Amino acid sequence: MSFKDFYKILNVQENSSIDEIKKQYRKLVRKYHPDKNPGNKQAEEKFKEINEAYETLSNPNKRQQYDTIRKYGSRFNYQGGTPGGGQGYTDVNIEDILKNFSKKGRRKSSRDSDSFNDIFSQFFDFNDISSSDMKIPKKGKDLLTSITIPFETAVKGGFQYLTIESENICERCTGSGAEPGSGSVTCPKCQGRGTISVNQGLFATSYVCPECQGKGSIIKNPCKKCHGSGHVESPKTIKVTIPKGIDNNSKIRLRGKGGPGINGGPAGDLIIIINIQPHSTYKRDGLDIEVETSISLTDALLGTEITVPTMDGKVKLKIPPGTQPNSKLRLRGKGIPYENERGDLFIKVLVKFPSKLTDNQKKLIKQLKDSGI
Ligand SMILES: [Zn+2]
Ligand SMILES: [Zn+2]
Repeated sequence: MSFKDFYKILNVQENSSIDEIKKQYRKLVRKYHPDKNPGNKQAEEKFKEINEAYETLSNPNKRQQYDTIRKYGSRFNYQGGTPGGGQGYTDVNIEDILKNFSKKGRRKSSRDSDSFNDIFSQFFDFNDISSSDMKIPKKGKDLLTSITIPFETAVKGGFQYLTIESENICERCTGSGAEPGSGSVTCPKCQGRGTISVNQGLFATSYVCPECQGKGSIIKNPCKKCHGSGHVESPKTIKVTIPKGIDNNSKIRLRGKGGPGINGGPAGDLIIIINIQPHSTYKRDGLDIEVETSISLTDALLGTEITVPTMDGKVKLKIPPGTQPNSKLRLRGKGIPYENERGDLFIKVLVKFPSKLTDNQKKLIKQLKDSGI
């Protein structure tokens, strides 16, 4: 059971004005709009959450009711919480909230109670009861990290090692959280059912037992290694395959390398954001590469042959006579390979002008000038 914290979802303060909330809402909607994130399930969920949060916080009546529930909710936070509770959610004990509300409810008309009933169910995420707290297998958390790779690795592909703190099943208790041989006892709060039913007149519902978190049993002696969590954190080194031609800020998803599965479900994924180190010589633009080279004024005027570094080694390049400063020469197919295509290499030609001339050189330039250049 988790409580949706609309303030956290919209990233605003509890005392933010309606204008501030509107402004922040518009900003987030632009960022997470499905049109901008086609096929991105996470963005879609976020977009839904943002709209739901705005619907309540932009309506003064709803906001006031929500604030009251939120105030009670935050008083009854319990440590640990549900494994499924993501960002923007606060874990609460519903029983305590109901106690407080039934006290308030008596002073209110029945109409108010009904609207409270409606609003109440809006603010809680009932889905996570069945998916994470009960013994239904669920995929583990997706973890996000980033690595910085050399320019050449991004172009040619290769490997990169990455060490992450990964959550693993505790070997001592094989994930049960109980000290080996100590076993567990039936939860006294829910008598082993894992859920507690509440019928407060407003509505009947059941919620996950906070004592045993839906397991139906509690541990007598917590495991000494994992202190009862069933998980331990340990560093793990992963070899990441970098495909050739990968671009900056691309994501690589490693299936099953994320958080451990819940109730025997599959492990989550590890998502790696790629940062490419800038190169001292090459500049990248999509699949094209640009490299700068300097030639003398006379070479620019008369033409020459130079050697340019490419990703495949050095290549000779003819500079035609009369080449203008900053002009770009193209070497087709010497850029970045990606799938079946390959970009081009552009050579930007800089022309060095002499800053000092001897008397003789000045005489020659004067002759050039007189000839009409
Ligand atoms: Zn229980
Ligand atoms: Zn353990």
